[in-house]
Amino acid sequence: MKKVTAKKSLGQHFLTDKNIAEKIVNSLSDVSPSCSILEIGPGMGILTGILIEKYGNSLYVVEIDAESVRYLSELYPSLSIIHGDFLKMDITKHFSQPLAVIGNFPYNISSQIFFKLLNHREQVREIVCMLQKEVAERIASVHNCKSYGILSVLLQAFYKVEYLFTVHEHVFSPAPKVKSGVIRLTRNPNGNLGCNEKLFFTVVKTAFNQRRKTLRNALKNLSLPARIANETILNKRAEQLSVSDFIYLTHTIENLTQQQSY
Ligand code: SAH
Repeated sequence: MKKVTAKKSLGQHFLTDKNIAEKIVNSLSDVSPSCSILEIGPGMGILTGILIEKYGNSLYVVEIDAESVRYLSELYPSLSIIHGDFLKMDITKHFSQPLAVIGNFPYNISSQIFFKLLNHREQVREIVCMLQKEVAERIASVHNCKSYGILSVLLQAFYKVEYLFTVHEHVFSPAPKVKSGVIRLTRNPNGNLGCNEKLFFTVVKTAFNQRRKTLRNALKNLSLPARIANETILNKRAEQLSVSDFIYLTHTIENLTQQQSY
């Protein structure tokens, strides 16, 4: 069978180390039998082969590259392959059951992948993925750290985030310029945040868009209720707020807005 030639534009860096592939697959912890597994970007299938052995026909893969799709369908004729762009894929059309997502993500679109997964947070129970190390660290980062940002807060609000291990560039073909990190995200058992989640997303994104400013200034465009002016939390900057501080802030905005409208 002809080997697939890596395409830079698709972020293709194929993992070549079987032991690391096994370690990644074994990092999926809590896959209940009702869950399907979705692998994003299987490439030449180094994770896929191990996933098939473990999960059989609960496994689905989504791959954009026609050459990889052809290769995989010859190698694994009964594998459920969705040929297309994960970012454009209608997840609810393909799956109604809970999902565990795994992959060595295409690094150039990893943030977009996470924003999409967040939109499906009720369905996506667990995520194990390899990313550029800095991005993996950012997602796992806590408040008062420089690397703490929008994705850290949004993902940690709904998932327990664990940085598992670092992977050296020489175990890929072609070798990427950066180191990689593997993280695991496990959905919090409590279904929702107890505040308006749409507003929570808006507050977090707006606060970090001007992360050097105090929240009082960074959130100006949100036309906050007048009575919030007394809240001392507004004197802080986005990176000084823990996830629960952001939930508290959203809750406060919500309550005062409701009171104001009576
Ligand atoms: N899992 C493989 C390949 C990782 S490289 C391994 O570990 O070796 C990333 C893979 O994601 C490539 O196969 C690339 O073609 C695929 N990919 C890139 N963009 C994609 C997208 N938008 N949707 C689905 N797959 C994508």
